[in-house]
Amino acid sequence: MKQINITTPSKNYPVYVGEQAITKLGEVLQSLTPAPKNVLIITDHNVGELYLKDVQAELDQKFSYESFQIKPGDSQKSFENYYACQSFALEKGLDRTSVILALGGGMIGDIAGFVAGTYMRGIRFIQIPTTILAHDSAVGGKTGINHPEGKNMIGVFHQPEAVIYSTDFLSTLPENEIRSGFAEVIKHALIADPSFYEYLRKNITTLNDLKDEHLLNCLTRGIEIKNEVVSQDEREKGIRAFLNFGHTLGHAIEGELRYKDITHGEAVAHGMLFALSLKEETIQLGKNLKRWLHDLGYPTTPKNLSVSSLINRMKKDKKAAGRTINMVLLEQTGHPYIAPYQAIDLEEKLTEFLK
Ligand code: ADP
Ligand code: ZN
Repeated sequence: MKQINITTPSKNYPVYVGEQAITKLGEVLQSLTPAPKNVLIITDHNVGELYLKDVQAELDQKFSYESFQIKPGDSQKSFENYYACQSFALEKGLDRTSVILALGGGMIGDIAGFVAGTYMRGIRFIQIPTTILAHDSAVGGKTGINHPEGKNMIGVFHQPEAVIYSTDFLSTLPENEIRSGFAEVIKHALIADPSFYEYLRKNITTLNDLKDEHLLNCLTRGIEIKNEVVSQDEREKGIRAFLNFGHTLGHAIEGELRYKDITHGEAVAHGMLFALSLKEETIQLGKNLKRWLHDLGYPTTPKNLSVSSLINRMKKDKKAAGRTINMVLLEQTGHPYIAPYQAIDLEEKLTEFLK
């Protein structure tokens, strides 16, 4: 098992990654002061069905606990489910010493973290991520829910007490979820660590390679990079924007496809390819990445997308400024920078890219 120490201006906490990391749970809870009166596990039906009993087994005879399950899917990151969690917590008598366990992918981490961040003005929580994508969302302290007007529109920054990443829980992930999470690992490598990118290129040639030692390395290095960036910029003023590599177009594609038929990471993969196509020096890197992604079974960029609708969405991106669209590009692997584009120029480039 590996341990990474996350440092943020507001608090430091450990991430345990590895086979059977879940066996750390009792110890982590016992080390907390004040001792938790009780524990609430929040999970979704899929993950609950598979792993709730493993988590409960770690608590049996040591802690009193309750479990609350919500339906799977990002659309469940709703005010209604948030409110239902709060009501359940009140009903079961959680107090300010209680601890919430977020057992699941990014969706559960976000909503359970937001419940924890606001229940009685904020109680402690522990992340127990079960997807590869969650290596990204479990670090950085962002929690929240969606509003019909937009995703993640309501939320707070709230850091967990610990992250317990039990890699044995990831063996049941569907292939498209593996691809989704791995795209974000590739992103972390591209923006920050050329040798890690080379390692991935060499060792991950099929999705099947994403297990054991390689999976462990992907999660730990991904988390370390995310932490390095976020710890320098907790409230997103400067370099945190580099984490947006591939996301300006990625978010627009997800939106155009109504968040169906494509996962977050798959959309980000298209966004990274587009970003690499925008600069002479990274065109070859983009071509190589495209071939590799294809070999790993990533879908090709959808052809039937409307360029003008995509551009409109990119203009509305939280990170856009007026009519210019800020794109994260690379000078080379490990050297990201922000390039402002006029919408009209980007539209031309995107038309070319989607041909
Ligand atoms: P993320 O945002 O991290 O991709 P989600 O919370 O949206 O994750 O989960 C994606 C889907 O995968 C959901 O349907 C969820 O129930 C399911 N899921 C999460 N973890 C696992 C797992 N370890 N095994 C099988 N299915 C999982
Ligand atoms: Zn992302």
